[in-house]
Amino acid sequence: MSFQSLGLSEALLKAISKKGYTTPSPIQEKAIPPVLEGHDVLASAQTGTGKTAGFTLPLLHILSENPKAKYRPIRALILTPTRELAAQVYANVREYSEFLNLRSAVIFGGVNQKPQVATLRQGIDVLVATPGRLLDLQNQGLLSLKRVEIFVLDEADRMLDMGFLRDIEKVIKSMPEKRQNLMFSATFSKDIKKLAHGILNHPVQVEATPENTTVDAITQKVYRVAKGSKTGLIIKLISEGNWKQVLVFTRTKHGANKLCEKMDKAGITAAAIHGNKSQGARTKALAGFKSGRIRVLVATDIAARGLDIPLLPHVINFEIPNIPEDYVHRIGRTGRAGANGVALSLVSADETSFLRAIEKLIEMKLPIEIMEGFEPDPNASTAPIKQGQGRRNRNSRNSNSRSSNKSGGASNRNSNSNSRRPKRNSDRRN
Ligand code: AMP
Repeated sequence: MSFQSLGLSEALLKAISKKGYTTPSPIQEKAIPPVLEGHDVLASAQTGTGKTAGFTLPLLHILSENPKAKYRPIRALILTPTRELAAQVYANVREYSEFLNLRSAVIFGGVNQKPQVATLRQGIDVLVATPGRLLDLQNQGLLSLKRVEIFVLDEADRMLDMGFLRDIEKVIKSMPEKRQNLMFSATFSKDIKKLAHGILNHPVQVEATPENTTVDAITQKVYRVAKGSKTGLIIKLISEGNWKQVLVFTRTKHGANKLCEKMDKAGITAAAIHGNKSQGARTKALAGFKSGRIRVLVATDIAARGLDIPLLPHVINFEIPNIPEDYVHRIGRTGRAGANGVALSLVSADETSFLRAIEKLIEMKLPIEIMEGFEPDPNASTAPIKQGQGRRNRNSRNSNSRSSNKSGGASNRNSNSNSRRPKRNSDRRN
């Protein structure tokens, strides 16, 4: 299968070849034809499968086939959960539309709105946005979605995790009813299926990897280790393996900062990326990581979404997530676009139940290893880590957040209980 045979225009083929892509990835092969035919599409695809091009290429094709000559209303809206993902998708839109007469823009929070508004005023065809800033500018009367023809909801599962359900509903109400809808999600919970049902009209369903399973190209391994020995073990693994580009996940922002300091002390350049960092600091850390100046990027779950780091060889879960789907997202950062990757998880006794939940979701037992000198503590309790420890502000934050009743309510309800429903440990909006 070639890009030519998918029916994309010459201008797009030129941009694709400039990017260096020779063959479409499985999700591109499956998603591009139905989108070009005007169908709604529900796609199961993780980051790293080439999903961005999967929706961007046919979207640009459709828009350029029917140009609106006089002025440029927003004709396509791509909604993403995080700033980083928005920036990344926008960069792709720019690259793929290089030889087309289409204009695009990106808007997200955390930065001054003025330059964004100035760009919108010039008229743009494709808007990439995060929900908060989009609704904000819309409420100020600075943009209109009344002429949207194609709506893309990217990383829909993460949108719900972050409590954006209400925002999505508001955005949908402000668009014309007749439009083409594309929805991408790595995981498919009941809530996602419900959302899809509400948005999509007789969708064609496409799948790059089986639901909720991890990519074959990723070697996964668990190190059982005493909690207090994790830092020593991770430093040993990175130094002795001489790994040059490692993405590390921690549960908390504080944990991310602390780990970075220890890595730096051990002579491993590291930077943290999380919600307490300014947009500038995040961009700088990511650029440093991509260029190889920084060996280790330590991230919390939400901050890591949307990071586009091609061919990332190593992902380490310094702590495994209490939401099993997050594990799938995390390790989806490696083994990208056909390359091999290694995903390691450092698991202490109190994470045992989280590990079981992950294994249940991915339907496989993860191989376990014990490193000499970093053995697990045989006397440690396997009771799960208390949710919300040392995080006094979280509940007040959640109640102020734009989260839906469901997620906000559940968080508050569960904070002092042993409910089985997993609760996100990291702040919802980092
Ligand atoms: P995505 O899943 O959209 O984040 O894409 C993952 C990575 O794969 C990005 O670095 C893309 O530039 C790259 N990519 C996307 N499509 C292709 C393709 N057909 N061939 C090779 N690389 C691709």
